[in-house]
Amino acid sequence: MNYREIPKVELHCHLEACFRPATVMEVGRTLGLDVPQDLERFQNEWLLSKPLENLEVALQRFVDIQRIWCSEAVIERMTFEACEYAVEQGIRIMEFRYAPDFIAKNKRHLSFQRIHEAVLRGLNRASGFDIAIGLIGIVQKTLSLAEAERTINFIIDNAETFIALDFADKDTHELASYAPMVEKAHDAGLHVTVHAGEEPLPTAPAEVRSAIEMLGAERIGHGIHIINDQSVMELTRERGVALEVCPTSNWLTSSVPSTREHPIRRLIDAGVAVTINSDDPGLFGIDLCHEYGILHREHGFSSSDFERCNDIAAARSFIPLATRQKAWPRRIELPVSPVIGF
Ligand SMILES: [Zn+2]
Repeated sequence: MNYREIPKVELHCHLEACFRPATVMEVGRTLGLDVPQDLERFQNEWLLSKPLENLEVALQRFVDIQRIWCSEAVIERMTFEACEYAVEQGIRIMEFRYAPDFIAKNKRHLSFQRIHEAVLRGLNRASGFDIAIGLIGIVQKTLSLAEAERTINFIIDNAETFIALDFADKDTHELASYAPMVEKAHDAGLHVTVHAGEEPLPTAPAEVRSAIEMLGAERIGHGIHIINDQSVMELTRERGVALEVCPTSNWLTSSVPSTREHPIRRLIDAGVAVTINSDDPGLFGIDLCHEYGILHREHGFSSSDFERCNDIAAARSFIPLATRQKAWPRRIELPVSPVIGF
């Protein structure tokens, strides 16, 4: 199967972790960082290509990459290169997400607005590409509630150029605490997705339930550990909530013991809406086609399985329908509106 030729949709890809090694090496050199200039050493020391032995090592990799996003020129360039990557992968509908707080940290010269405008310039340079692209703003759940509110307000103020809000990282507050802020975002026309149910914890199904019930999440980042909870799977079916599944990411973060043991097939068989994504392709040293290869070889995905997941993703994308329909080869069938309250 030629994975590149399959028209694809990617709904879960972190812009900050979607990069070319050569660019990171070059930018790192100009910043005077100790970036290996040899690809193999770079992969071993800067990327996450095997499950992490400890959290500190993983966090250090994020710190290193965070420093690379150092100026408006670099942000614009790396955003444009991420769009080139998407086209090379055969992606027709692409949603990138980024965390303004993550990029801005320790960089007094970069305000949220300057970062966002640089990202938009990068996207604009790709406007001739045959692809529909949307931007999701990430609120890190590790922020204080006051900081989270500031970020959400920034995303709301830029609702013309963001399509949605995402909540990422470890929970430090009850999800319900964000509800009033999310309501404002909904009023501004923004959609909501939430990273939840990623870790193999007994609380995973409850996290997904609160993301849907408290924050009105229309999609869930990962969410795979609802697999043994019939009632939460039923809730996703009822509400038409899609999971943004990222097989290699789930293996690398020890969410599943191996990609072969990933519950993706069981979720599909249970009638849950599943989409296929790469999460952090640059950081993991993978691409979306690599994920298709895993699903084909280890889970027997056929062309029609890929077609079904991509049609589901095209229907659940937050990009305005007319824009995504123009970029998609088949008619996008919107999910039937869920009947709530019966
Ligand atoms: Zn993610």
